Amino acid sequence: MLARLFRLHGLLVASHPWEVIVGTLAVTVCLMNMNTLSTSSQMCSWNNCPKVKEEVPSSDIIILTITRCMAIIYIYFQFKNLLQLGSKYILGIAGLFTVFSSFVFSTVVIHFFGKELTGLNEALPFFLLLIDLSKACTLAKFALSSNSQEEVRENISKGMAILGPTFTLDALVECLVIGVGTMSGVPQLEIMCCFGCMSVLANYFVFMTFFPACVSLVLELSRESQEGRPIWQMSHLAHVLAEEEDNKPNPVTQRVKIIMSLGLALVHAHTRLTAEHSGHNRTADRPIAERLESAGTVWPQKLTSMELEHVITLSLALLLAVKYVFFEQADTESSLSLRSPINGVSLSQKPRAAEDCCRRDQSAPKSQKSSTGVLATSIASSAVSDGTPSPEADITYKEVAKTASMEVEGCGSFSRESSAQTCSAPPSGASEPRSLEECMAILSDPQRGPAMLTDAEVMNLVRSCKILNYKLEAVLESPERGVAIRREMLSLKLPLSSALACLPYKGYDYSKVMGACCENVIGYMPVPVGVAGPLLLDNQQFHVPMATTEGCLVASANRGCRAISLSGGCNSRILADSMTRGPAVRLPSACRAAEVKIWLETSDGFSMVKEAFDETSRFARLEKLLVCVAGRNLYIRFQSQTGDAMGMNMLSKGTEQALHRLKQHFPDMEVLSVSGNYCTDKKPAAINWILGRGKSAVCEATIPAQVVKEVLKSSTAALVDLNISKNLVGSAMAGSIGGFNAHSANIVAAIYIACGQDPAQTVGSSSCITQMEAAGPDGEDLYISCTMPSIELGTVGGGTNLPPQQACLQMLGVTSPNQPGENARQLARVVCATVLAGELSLMAALAAGHLVKSHMTHNRSKTNLPELALSKSKTTVP
Ligand code: NAP
Repeated sequence: MLARLFRLHGLLVASHPWEVIVGTLAVTVCLMNMNTLSTSSQMCSWNNCPKVKEEVPSSDIIILTITRCMAIIYIYFQFKNLLQLGSKYILGIAGLFTVFSSFVFSTVVIHFFGKELTGLNEALPFFLLLIDLSKACTLAKFALSSNSQEEVRENISKGMAILGPTFTLDALVECLVIGVGTMSGVPQLEIMCCFGCMSVLANYFVFMTFFPACVSLVLELSRESQEGRPIWQMSHLAHVLAEEEDNKPNPVTQRVKIIMSLGLALVHAHTRLTAEHSGHNRTADRPIAERLESAGTVWPQKLTSMELEHVITLSLALLLAVKYVFFEQADTESSLSLRSPINGVSLSQKPRAAEDCCRRDQSAPKSQKSSTGVLATSIASSAVSDGTPSPEADITYKEVAKTASMEVEGCGSFSRESSAQTCSAPPSGASEPRSLEECMAILSDPQRGPAMLTDAEVMNLVRSCKILNYKLEAVLESPERGVAIRREMLSLKLPLSSALACLPYKGYDYSKVMGACCENVIGYMPVPVGVAGPLLLDNQQFHVPMATTEGCLVASANRGCRAISLSGGCNSRILADSMTRGPAVRLPSACRAAEVKIWLETSDGFSMVKEAFDETSRFARLEKLLVCVAGRNLYIRFQSQTGDAMGMNMLSKGTEQALHRLKQHFPDMEVLSVSGNYCTDKKPAAINWILGRGKSAVCEATIPAQVVKEVLKSSTAALVDLNISKNLVGSAMAGSIGGFNAHSANIVAAIYIACGQDPAQTVGSSSCITQMEAAGPDGEDLYISCTMPSIELGTVGGGTNLPPQQACLQMLGVTSPNQPGENARQLARVVCATVLAGELSLMAALAAGHLVKSHMTHNRSKTNLPELALSKSKTTVP
């Protein structure tokens, strides 16, 4: 019920920030005006405090100076706590407003009740010590964990529902406890306690109204104009609601506070009644002139006298203010400051790495949630949170520091770049982005350059199209920083802002990717790589790398390799080697198209085209043209060796040049496209199956009966029969083109991904016919062959240039200098032989009925399945 009331109150305040702010200010002004009136008439009966005119003794001056200093340090730490939320100024200003308005409010209220302000100078430090911005921090966290303005309101109201009742009770208890001092009979103490009570009440009032309204308004105003998304989105605060709900106040403590409040209220009531009965009204009796003097004359005099204690206090305040403004940094992970983890991670800070964004904010001091208001506890908790890290925070810090140092040690060129960035990053005081013009000037200045811009500034430049998003790596002269910034910008647009947290991007050599393998890079995809082998092929042993996420696949290929090796190995041949490109051209008529076809098939025609084609590469040499006519369209299939390259770019380049020459000869010819699907690339096509494309290879092996039985757990007769029924008849019935095999694509795709091939070319490359026969004197041995007419691959160019893919090619020994084309052909043989191994193993598993069982054991995920499903699968698959 109470929580519901506070929730409604929070929603009201957060939904109407302007009204609340203006209302609070109006109430303050009204009180000020009424205060002027009240100076002529005493309105307060709660005034047992006589005016203090005596000179303060020197011991008191020392105590007061220490109190003031403590108060200033305390407030400084309070602001540093707000800084941990990621904003140096926004929340700081809101906090400052709260402190200021609380102060104004308290003094006005004290005036309103006719209290003396003579003691203000002394009471001010106590006022500061009473202010607890940790409440503001907690409420701000609720607001900052929102993704939209609606959520801001909702979360503020939730925060109010959770925090409001505790704060109310705390304020009441604080007020009553401090109120005890007003009955002490010690004049100085009475004044201070009186002021303290007012301060607590004013602080509470402002916190309940002004601060949430300010936070709501500030967050609304700081929305990104372009995308309508908030810039304060902080994933590490996403758990704040759950966290706070988990830490609801202890009911026992709450009960003690309530009972204590009732007791104290009784004491206060009794004291006031006694005072009234005695009929004294000391304040009313005091001359107005005296009060005016105390309010208007004495304390300005005190302020201007600038005694030693004032100098000390002022210096400390100035020192801490300068430290805060110029030397404190907002949290590195914050999106408010929009610093990337690369620039942000510094060993001298208490950092949070981007990878930590899913973690709870462990470094947040638990004591912040305590809102008892006991001054000593608050000071201590602030000191712990900002000075000495808690053990938990220390562990997090050490982890991140270790990660950072590992990166510096292990990542070659990148690490040097990123550490250079850290060194040359702009001064920490420049966390507020500079203007676009200023940033552009820095960017184009060779002396300064992109390293002097913060990530937030770079993002502003991208948003305003001063830097094109896809050119980030080049403009920043640091691929990894470009990738990091692109990721950060993208994260804000994703349904889950932490979506990219587990997609790695650090420590990758992007220089080999840019302009060659991928654009708009946001990271890299690690895929497990297994090894099958040794594979005895053409009297040579190979260990075949396979990148896959299909459990059983590598194991199966490995079993096939073992069977082959135990059988004396397999043998292979390359049947053809030429890549193709088939453009589409159009002529005015079908007859004209036929004329061109006939001319191209003459030796003159072919020579002219070949001359143009061969000019474009050291390796591409046109071998053949296959021309077909469809109406007035003409399709020309260019066919050429490509050395060790897979050759698609090479063929495209040569074909374009050849078409250019052809057009000069036939000006009425129109080039429709350099690729007319007559190639055919990355689509199933009979032309590749029949005529071949890339490397055409065949591989064979004879597996003795004993190996078939002991390794493959099957028999030759069963395998031959199954091969006919499944791979030949079954595929024929399905109308397959080149699919006369069990799972050739599995092997091809895994080797292609590991070895940097174009994975889309698995389509044509996995075309394969698997044949099995009974062999040997008694027909018990198994003869198997795999014929693959269109293996499209290379050992240079494309993804083969990337270091991990190079490593896999090196495993196979196909990177050493060789006759051009030999490496690629060798790779094609390995692919064909591994396919044969895979066919052997899978066919044997199918014949023996082991397939489902082994997949259930090695390929079914146990981590994502609910327990019920798991237990079911256990019962159905023994
Ligand atoms: P490429 O990297 O574009 O060309 C190979 C380069 O390596 C050529 O510059 C070639 O020299 C040079 N080279 C050096 N040593 C060589 C050797 N021993 N053998 C052959 N070339 C050697 O590679 P590509 O194979 O032509 O194209 C592969 C890329 O094309 C892949 O990234 C693939 O994904 C992509 N692709 C393109 C298309 C398309 O339509 N363009 C279609 C599918 C895939 P030269 O300059 O003297 O020839």
